[in-house]
Amino acid sequence: MRAAVTSTRPQEGGPAKGAPVHLRAMSPEQLGELVQSAGFEPYRGRQLFQWLHRRGARTLEEMRNVPGPLREWLAANTALGGVAGADVTHHSSDGSMKFLFELDDGKKVESVLMPDTARDYWTFCLSSQVGCAVDCKFCVTGLNGFFRHLRTDEIVDQVLYARRYLHERQPKANFRNLVYMGMGEPLLNTVPVVESIRLLTSGEGVDLSPRRITVSTSGIVPGMIEFSRAQTGACLAVSLNAPTQEQREAIMPITRKYPLADVLDVVRRHPFAKNKRVTFEYVLLKDVTDREEDARALVPLLRGIPCKVNLIPFNPDAELPYGRPDEATINRFAAILAEANYTVSVRWSKALDVGGACGQLAGQKGQRASRRSSPSKASLPNS
Ligand code: SAH
Ligand code: SF4
Repeated sequence: MRAAVTSTRPQEGGPAKGAPVHLRAMSPEQLGELVQSAGFEPYRGRQLFQWLHRRGARTLEEMRNVPGPLREWLAANTALGGVAGADVTHHSSDGSMKFLFELDDGKKVESVLMPDTARDYWTFCLSSQVGCAVDCKFCVTGLNGFFRHLRTDEIVDQVLYARRYLHERQPKANFRNLVYMGMGEPLLNTVPVVESIRLLTSGEGVDLSPRRITVSTSGIVPGMIEFSRAQTGACLAVSLNAPTQEQREAIMPITRKYPLADVLDVVRRHPFAKNKRVTFEYVLLKDVTDREEDARALVPLLRGIPCKVNLIPFNPDAELPYGRPDEATINRFAAILAEANYTVSVRWSKALDVGGACGQLAGQKGQRASRRSSPSKASLPNS
C-alpha cells in the first residue's frame, strides 16, 4: 500500500509540509495525475472534479460511477477537505441565507447568499480568513481579531456547499455572482484566493464567469500587485472609506502601512479585469465620513481612474462606536459624486435582519482573538 499522499507546497495559507492533500483544492489535471500515480486511469481525475465541483458531492460514496477500489484508495490516502459542517439561517425577509460554516479545527466562518430583487440570480459573499488582522474600526470581523487563513479547499467549499444547498431547494436558481467580501482580507491570503478563483471558473466545475467575481481589499499594496499579476479575470474592489490619508488612518490603521496615495497608484498603474472598472467601496459613517466636504474631496482624488463608487451606509453593531447616516445625507453624498460624472450606487445591505450585512460577520459569538498577544500582526507581510 502506498504511503499517504502529502503536499510539499511551501505557500502562505496552503497546506503545510506533511499535511494531507485536499481533493477540493485540486484541478482536474492535478486530480488526473494523482489517480494515475496510484495506477488508475487519468480521466478519473476529471470525473472526480465534476463530482466535487459541478455536482457538489459531499462524500466519496455519492460518486457512484467511480470504481470502488479508487474510492477506497482515496479514502485511505487523501482528504476531501472543505468545511466540516454548516448551520443555515434563512429567514431573512429579503430571501438571503446566512451560512455558518464549521471548519475542521472547530473555527467558524460566515457567508451570505443573496438574491437580486427579482430573484433572477444569486450573489454569494464568502470568507477568505477566520477573522481579520486589518482592524478597521467600523467592522465586527476586525473587532474580533485574526485567527488563521482559510485554505483553498475551505474557500472553494463555501461555494460548493451553498450552491448545492440552494439548488436542492430551488433547482432552477441561477447561482451567478461571487464577492470576496465576507470575513477576512482576501489579499493577505492571495495564493489560496487566486487558486479558488481558478477552480471556481473551471468549465468542468461550477463554471462561474470571472467577470462576475469581485475581490474586495482594504488596500494591501503587495497583495493588489500579486492579484493583478495573477490575471484571473476577476474584478477588484477597493474599500476606500475615507477621502484623506488622515481620515483613513483614523478608521483604517492599515493606511499607515499602505498609504492612500500608494493604493490609488496601484489601481492606476496595474491592470485588473479587462474592460471592467475598479469599484471603490465607501462606508458612510455618520458625521465621520458622510459630510458634503468628504464627497467633494473624493471628486479630485479619483479623477482619471475608470471606476464605480459603491456607497455602503454603515451597518450598526452594539460594539461599534458609529452611527448610520439618514437617507437624505446618503442621497446628498451620492448626488455630489454623480454630478461630477462618477457612476455611483448605494448598497442597501441585504440580510441586515439576520446579522449578515457587510461588516456584521463575526463567525461565532465569543470567537475573538486576543489583541494583546496580537497574533494578527504576524500575518501582515513584512511587519
Ligand atoms: N476585507 C475586505 C473584504 C471584506 S469587508 C475589505 O475590507 O474590503 C467588505 C466590505 O464591508 C468592505 O468594503 C468594508 O469596508 C465594509 N464594511 C465593513 N464593516 C462595515 C459596516 N459595519 N457597515 C458597512 N460596511 C462595512
Ligand atoms: Fe478586515 Fe475588511 Fe473588516 Fe477591515 S473591513 S477589518 S479589512 S474584513
